[in-house]
Amino acid sequence: MTEKCCDPRLMSVEENYKVITERIAEAAVRSGRRPEDITFLAATKTVPAEVINHAIDCGLRFVGENRVQEFIEKYDKINWAAGVSGQIIGRLQTNKVKYIVDKVDCIQSVDSVKLAGEISRLSEKAGRRMRVLVEVNIGGEESKGGVAPEALEAFLEEISAFSGILVDGLMAIPPICAKKTELRNYFFRMQQSFIDIGAKKIDNVFMNCLSMGMSSDYEEAILCGSTMVRIGSSLFGQRIYP
Ligand SMILES: *Cc1c(COP(=O)(O)O)cnc(C)c1O
Repeated sequence: MTEKCCDPRLMSVEENYKVITERIAEAAVRSGRRPEDITFLAATKTVPAEVINHAIDCGLRFVGENRVQEFIEKYDKINWAAGVSGQIIGRLQTNKVKYIVDKVDCIQSVDSVKLAGEISRLSEKAGRRMRVLVEVNIGGEESKGGVAPEALEAFLEEISAFSGILVDGLMAIPPICAKKTELRNYFFRMQQSFIDIGAKKIDNVFMNCLSMGMSSDYEEAILCGSTMVRIGSSLFGQRIYP
């Protein structure tokens, strides 16, 4: 513990974790919900396993990685035994599913029938059913993954046939917005889709998780109905790319 208490990065993670947790709780209450209705997932790309483990010691229970290779490299060092959920939040190639299918309990970035089919096939082979979220390209940006909003319902109908996955909600990364009102519009559109689709009661498709909001906008996202925020730099500090 002596070492830990003096490492400035670890000390700031502890303080940041507390501040973010409080802010999430306040935003939850302001949005008419309870603090425990919002899941705090840490976006851990570039963050070393020891720092992630310190966040776990502080109470963190959801870890989201972007890249399969990095996730695999860190996997054995992360303290999963604390009851921590590992999730994939970045673009996932179909040929990489095999490396993570036994290591994660949610894939948030499903955006093609081919990918959904492969996750389903390999999950069934491993004797399980994978929780997935469908990523929506809410800003229609070419640089980003995700299903176009107008194609979402048909997409969900199509992947609902796969018995090795369980669709549990939606994920989105809105475009960088200069104005808060613009950002709010994207979040509200996501919330509307989330509610509309939930009401359609498609077989095998549930709308329990709406994953939106990052360091710069998580309170706004919660006020617009987010049930999960994915936070990186506010928790761990600016990312240091190797
Ligand atoms: C990096 C990342 C985040 C967190 O970003 P911050 O702005 O550092 O909080 C959230 N979601 C995804 C998909 C990411 O890649």
